[in-house]
Amino acid sequence: MTAVSGIMPTGRLTLGNHLGALRRFTDRGGFYFVADLHAMTMRHVPRRLAALTRETATLMLAAGSPPGTVFVQSDVPAHAQLGYLLECTSYVGELSRMIQYKEKGRDRPMTRASLFTYPCLMAADILLYGTDRVPVGDDQDQHVELARDLAIRFNREYGETFVVPQVVKAALATRVRDLATPTAKMSKSDADDAVGTIRLLDPPDVIRRQVMRAVTDSENEVRHDESAKPGVTNLLEILAACTGGDPVQLASGYSGYGALKSDVADAVLSVIEPLQREYAVLASDPATVDELLAHGRDRAIEASAPRLRAAQSAMGLGVSR
Ligand code: ATP
Ligand code: MG
Repeated sequence: MTAVSGIMPTGRLTLGNHLGALRRFTDRGGFYFVADLHAMTMRHVPRRLAALTRETATLMLAAGSPPGTVFVQSDVPAHAQLGYLLECTSYVGELSRMIQYKEKGRDRPMTRASLFTYPCLMAADILLYGTDRVPVGDDQDQHVELARDLAIRFNREYGETFVVPQVVKAALATRVRDLATPTAKMSKSDADDAVGTIRLLDPPDVIRRQVMRAVTDSENEVRHDESAKPGVTNLLEILAACTGGDPVQLASGYSGYGALKSDVADAVLSVIEPLQREYAVLASDPATVDELLAHGRDRAIEASAPRLRAAQSAMGLGVSR
């Protein structure tokens, strides 16, 4: 299976992005990209986009992804090219039913057309590399289903071209919650000063303070219980994800919240500090970062070219001889 996965440069990366994505970018045959094209489906500021693209790419390299696996989506034109071909394969009706579009864009006059067609570009991300299984969180299920439908439809109408991907539930589906609002997901596009969001590149003392101030409840009983104790449960899940333990068993080792928070802070920093050190080395050497990204770009261009060409010719594009 070829792993393909993207991170949008829509904010400074969080602990959630690391535990749920970054640290799993380990497949030597993988394609891991900064999804800058996807980051333009909502209002954006060009300078901020460019800065976040560099920061995100550098973090992806610092996290230890294998050589040649990291690139910037817009550096590989095949993504946008195939995205357009897939727009010509999809229907307005099915795109209108996408939950993300319904929630973020429908009935708003300033909604960008790209938010509407976003699932076609995401289908291109997946189909370009011949991936047969796509591990995603629940929020992306519907988009991968669409990629499947488009691949099947394309193959039927224009001839066998794409591998039809399967949706697989992400194993170990870590979903880090916001420390201040533990019923909500931690997201990098939350406000820059949101106290519940742990940013991978924040100073360690700031991160420790955030963990110590995490919202819990008034019981002072450490128990894994998603619905009754979302704050404590989130802390246990984070501790487990950072130390490799089991969140339910870990609970029995604590009699109060203070000790739990202090251990969570230590565990989080033991994961984040080495990453910050690697990041600092790379960030001080932009030429090396450029070189590594060029390597990833060239490999992705080479890997995606045959399938793009096959799709173009199957659809009758270009002058035939
Ligand atoms: P945005 O708010 O812009 O959507 P995000 O933090 O949700 O930002 P994405 O770019 O949408 O990040 O997703 C990048 C990767 O990080 C995906 O693989 C996604 O599943 C993972 N991810 C995002 N948030 C979390 C989280 N809280 N816990 C675990 N994984 C997460
Ligand atoms: Mg997201």
